[in-house]
Amino acid sequence: MGRFNILAVCLGLLGCIGGASAQLPPPFESIEIAKDIHSAGNPGGRSLWIEMPESVVVFDPMNVRAAKALRADIAKNTDKPVSHVVYSHEHYDHIRGGQIFADEGAIFIAQERCLDTFDYVPDPDVVAPTVTYVETYTLDLGGPQIELLYFGRNHGDCMTITHFPEERLLFVVDLLTEKSLPFGSLPDYYPGDTVRTLKAIQELDFDRIARGHSSPIVDRAVLDETVAYWSDLMTSVKARLDAGESPFSFMEKHDLPHYRTWRNYDRWFKLHVERVVWHYTIGW
Ligand SMILES: [Zn+2]
Repeated sequence: MGRFNILAVCLGLLGCIGGASAQLPPPFESIEIAKDIHSAGNPGGRSLWIEMPESVVVFDPMNVRAAKALRADIAKNTDKPVSHVVYSHEHYDHIRGGQIFADEGAIFIAQERCLDTFDYVPDPDVVAPTVTYVETYTLDLGGPQIELLYFGRNHGDCMTITHFPEERLLFVVDLLTEKSLPFGSLPDYYPGDTVRTLKAIQELDFDRIARGHSSPIVDRAVLDETVAYWSDLMTSVKARLDAGESPFSFMEKHDLPHYRTWRNYDRWFKLHVERVVWHYTIGW
């Protein structure tokens, strides 16, 4: 892993622990991915900001430092205020640092189940949502129409899938990986609900997907590949359990050769097998 990638993981997923915290972040980049819709950040973490006729909508402020860079990026393009901040999900590596937008009067929106996490592990850098929704929420401010969709738990308990219907664009955070295994030991992933959700996303009307990490935008093939990985992982583990094999006899050596070339296969595949074993054996 090169220096850039180490920094990306540090900044985006783990929030800078230990010695890496003194290093500079990777460069901030801002790309207009559709008319008035901007992806801003770096591979370690990406926000969206959308310019509306009267104001700006932000998705995922990331952290205090990134939110400052994001605010400056918006100001370079428009002097409109940020009126709304939407949280993609409850994980703090995406939603710290919103105070800079609260100070200018922004409304904060999240799916209502995020509140459970905010109560469970309070974080001083997370601004509590002022508006919550249950199944769907439409934000129509005269510019790109924004539809927030909730498909139940999957990665976390309160993941919002965002649909920009006119642009045929989605914003999907953390659920998609491009020729790379999903993160680590699958923290806060519910495997069955993840597959169910990914298949529901496949049914939406879209061409491209903006993301919260790695490359800013991908096409539908990345979603299809992610579904295939999860399905193959779960089907293959279930087959061994159904055949009466003890998980402790196969967890270490189970293999899916098709995915050996994906990044982090050597590091994380065993952990994924173990997570799926617990899914089927204890119903988690
Ligand atoms: Zn997450």
